[in-house]
Amino acid sequence: MTAGDLLQGGGPGPTGGRFSTMRTPAGAVPVDAPWWNRQRRSQMPSHRYTNVFDRVDVPLVDRDWPTRRLTAPPLWVPVDLRDGNQALAEPMDPERKRRFFELMVAMGYKEIEVGYPSASQTDYSFVRLLAESDLAPPDVTVVVFTPARRDLIERTVEAIRGVRNKVVIHMYTATAPTWRQTVLGHDRASLLDLILRGAGDVMSLAGDLDNVRFEFSPEVYNLTEPDYVLDVCNAVTTLWDATLDRPVILNLPATVEVATPNVYADQIEYTHKNLSRRESVILSVHPHNDRGTGIACAELAVLAGAQRVEGCILGNGERTGNVDLAVLALNLHAQGVDPMVDFSDIDEIRRTVEYCNRLETHPRHPYAGDLVHTAFSGTHQDAIKKGFAEHRARAQRTGLPEAELEWRVPYLPIDPADLGRNYDAVIRVNSQSGKGGIAYLFETEYGCSLPRRLQIDLARHVQAHTDATGAEVSAHDVMTIFEHAYLGNVPETIELVTLESVTHGNTTTGTRVTLRIHGAEVHGAFRGVGQVEAIIALLAEHDIPLDVVSLHQTSLATGSDSDALTLVEFRVGGRTRWVAGRSRSVLTATANAAIRAACTIADEITPRTRSLQSVGVTKAGPP
Ligand SMILES: [Zn+2]
Repeated sequence: MTAGDLLQGGGPGPTGGRFSTMRTPAGAVPVDAPWWNRQRRSQMPSHRYTNVFDRVDVPLVDRDWPTRRLTAPPLWVPVDLRDGNQALAEPMDPERKRRFFELMVAMGYKEIEVGYPSASQTDYSFVRLLAESDLAPPDVTVVVFTPARRDLIERTVEAIRGVRNKVVIHMYTATAPTWRQTVLGHDRASLLDLILRGAGDVMSLAGDLDNVRFEFSPEVYNLTEPDYVLDVCNAVTTLWDATLDRPVILNLPATVEVATPNVYADQIEYTHKNLSRRESVILSVHPHNDRGTGIACAELAVLAGAQRVEGCILGNGERTGNVDLAVLALNLHAQGVDPMVDFSDIDEIRRTVEYCNRLETHPRHPYAGDLVHTAFSGTHQDAIKKGFAEHRARAQRTGLPEAELEWRVPYLPIDPADLGRNYDAVIRVNSQSGKGGIAYLFETEYGCSLPRRLQIDLARHVQAHTDATGAEVSAHDVMTIFEHAYLGNVPETIELVTLESVTHGNTTTGTRVTLRIHGAEVHGAFRGVGQVEAIIALLAEHDIPLDVVSLHQTSLATGSDSDALTLVEFRVGGRTRWVAGRSRSVLTATANAAIRAACTIADEITPRTRSLQSVGVTKAGPP
């Protein structure tokens, strides 16, 4: 592609071009804008939206959360089977629900929201399945979800009859002003009445069940007045008689994310510090991801006092999803904190979640995407390659297993092996890649480390290929390019006929060599030199100057076996070039490489030597 090709697409700007539907900002540059920022006012109708500070009061002034650290995981509560499931175009069938539940149990989750039994028969039946089978291990707490309506609470309590596990009945009501006015038609006082009637029904219907505890969510907590949140929550914990032995879960959802994460953290810390019966309350959060900051909200909320986090594995949920429990857990892992759930087979987790949700995972999804442990760029590849070499060397030096060793490989936040991935995809080669990545592919696939100057040379060949095709190359493609460049056909001007050592008793005294140059056989016997030197000497006698700069003997893994590979760097016409020889035996590989180099020279050097044959090369005796 040339610069001309790039320009042909038409430039940006209001005067035509490709994007005729767009309204390139053409308003004023703000008067206070610095000279290095020429952004113009746009026609986006941003004035239609109100900033969060005008929508809700955030009274916290002394913040503790900014100086805290995450040192332990919260109680994780996956809500995939309820909140996540409600967001699916095709909700999970019983088989999918069961598979997902078994996955969560296998991963080690101890509190799982299993459904909304008053809303769907599938959910109701699933809770009955838990009551009537041993699908849920005894130490797993089962959460069921219900609105604050007596008939629905009755149905919910009916669903959990006979469940031997600990059960949490989770009641929710939206409390934010817009919801009160527009959706529910209640003022603060009458909505509080409604909530307390529901809480009273929960208490009277299930309060005497020893295995049951209660959870309340003021839905849209993040847009609800902080003092009203406290009024409602305190009234509920009083009615439910929250105690240390039977704590109440207060779950504070960012039902629709509306603010930067620091605002949510302030809200959580304010509630945390001002709730009554705080020690008998398990403070929980339930972030969604509308602004793409669900993860940050959850992490800062834990700093601010939250003890429990509800979310979905890989972040399914209404709109942009619930906060992603996989990312939260692995973020802790990457900081040296045990997440207390297992992610050692991320691809099995991902397959199961994708099967149940019928949703695909983005290739760049943190930790789980196909591309997240892959580097295409040359500089990253070089660094990763060096990082792996250092890792291996340190393992050898310290005698520690590689999988136990402190991780320091650049550009890879965690060892893909922790997640059950191998290193196959770590380095992939395209037109952005450099010699490091190419050499890495060669090394991992064929067990062969190439000399640095050959890496540079090979990278040129690969680059020419990727520039021409625009496509990614595999290790196999790199090998094809390698073979073409260094093992490819050259005019067979020179052939090796025989090559043998001359021995005296047990001692090798020299080498005898026969070559066919332009069809004519020439012989030489050389005392005290090895085979390559003998070939070079005989070629020199016939005006073919093979000037070897370096010679590397290595091997190439071919399935269960390996071939000898000799790499020869030689000088021709004032520059250096590379050829290779490949064979079962090291000697043959080396001789082949030397002859291939000689053919290249013979093919390129002056007509004077091209006319060797006419000069009459018939005989060359030993010195
Ligand atoms: Zn939700």
